[in-house]
Amino acid sequence: MAAVAIIGAGPAGLMAAEVLAEARCAVTVYDRMPSVGRKLLMAGRGGLNLTHSEPLAQFLARYGHAAGRLGPLIEAFPPEALSTWSRGLGQETFVGSSGRVFPKALKASPLLRAWLARLREAGVEFRTRHDLVGWDAGGALRFQAPTGEVFVSPEATILALGGASWPKLGSNGAWVDLLAQAGVGLSALQPANAGFDVGWSELFGDRFAGQPLKGIAVTFGRTRLRGEAMVTRDGLEGGAIYLLSAALREAIAKDGSARVWIDLRPDARVEDLAARLAQQPSHQSAANRLRKGVHLTPLETNLLREAHGKDLPGEPLALAASIKGVPLRLVAIRPIERAISTAGGVRFEAVDDELMLKAKPGVFVAGEMLDWEAPTGGYLLQASFATGRAAARGVLRWLGSS
Ligand SMILES: Cc1cc2nc3c(=O)[nH]c(=O)nc-3n(C[C@H](O)[C@H](O)[C@H](O)COP(=O)(O)OP(=O)(O)OC[C@H]3O[C@@H](n4cnc5c(N)ncnc54)[C@H](O)[C@@H]3O)c2cc1C
Repeated sequence: MAAVAIIGAGPAGLMAAEVLAEARCAVTVYDRMPSVGRKLLMAGRGGLNLTHSEPLAQFLARYGHAAGRLGPLIEAFPPEALSTWSRGLGQETFVGSSGRVFPKALKASPLLRAWLARLREAGVEFRTRHDLVGWDAGGALRFQAPTGEVFVSPEATILALGGASWPKLGSNGAWVDLLAQAGVGLSALQPANAGFDVGWSELFGDRFAGQPLKGIAVTFGRTRLRGEAMVTRDGLEGGAIYLLSAALREAIAKDGSARVWIDLRPDARVEDLAARLAQQPSHQSAANRLRKGVHLTPLETNLLREAHGKDLPGEPLALAASIKGVPLRLVAIRPIERAISTAGGVRFEAVDDELMLKAKPGVFVAGEMLDWEAPTGGYLLQASFATGRAAARGVLRWLGSS
């Protein structure tokens, strides 16, 4: 039985373990944390959006520059296969109204529990509290463990170490230095699916942090998206913002800031809003006319003041136009520690088609540590699972030929 070490017990590493155990390899999964799958469990807090039901071509386009390399790997383990796999663990899935796919339990713990039991039954061994710190001169994997340094020399290795967001869940991006020293081509790790700072007034941030802006449209450049955003102490986060986060991050890096426009009433025409505002007595304050005429919430009215200045236009058409286009200047992306996922990582040029590092034969890479990014919507887990399987298939082929 060939001995394979998998480092990182997240979705990518565990999926690789499954494929290799089925192929009768002696699989040991190492993780630096005291327990496994912590980020998967955290994803479960939001319902565990496993994947998305949209047509595959549209699905693959979500991976932007990496779509060409990830495409064949996801086609080999597409969204339907992921749902079937979940069902095999007793977790039936359903398609939510937005096309997103979730397990009916809307959490990760039952799935993870069943999965770990199945892996153990298949012979997979787990070593937690084993922090990979490098390779020794002879090429053995070097771990820091509670008992001291541990050296392991497997026949093949899969690194599935995750990105650098939410480091308290285990993936801290410390592997960047290890792989850079080994001559592996890397793109800088950056926050993805993250919030942005707007620089609200203190009053606004204090009063409205944690409140959602629902049913809005956000426009950046030529892209207009429907969705919702959440006000934070310093800015905005949430679905509509995450969808734009790669483009916004790049615009801020280039120009220092990025301007988005929020339409608070995307289904209403400006003329209709103006007509409703015009029906309100003109002696009323702008805030009252906005509340009574077009049902703006206190958050929405104060957002208009943040963006347009304290004195809102009195004239109905101008006031209506201010609702349809609230200009906000985003000045910084939130730090990677607070992001949902990580952009950057091991460049696809540094791995072969089966995800083996060209600079380290016999060492494969899977999951979020590869250089791809995608919006929220199930794309992150789908690619993590699919690349885990691909790396495992690569190991099998490599073991067969080595
Ligand atoms: C709050 C939140 C919600 C999310 N919700 C969703 C969602 O609903 N849908 C979706 O598709 N995605 C979601 N994601 C993203 C998704 O969870 C990740 O993309 C996915 O977990 C990445 O899988 P991975 O196996 O590559 O890495 P990880 O899950 O990060 O696992 C990597 C593992 O490697 C271990 N490790 C790291 N370095 C070392 C080392 N040196 N030595 C030993 N072990 C090490 C870590 O401890 C960790 O267990 C969410 C993320 C967050 C933070």
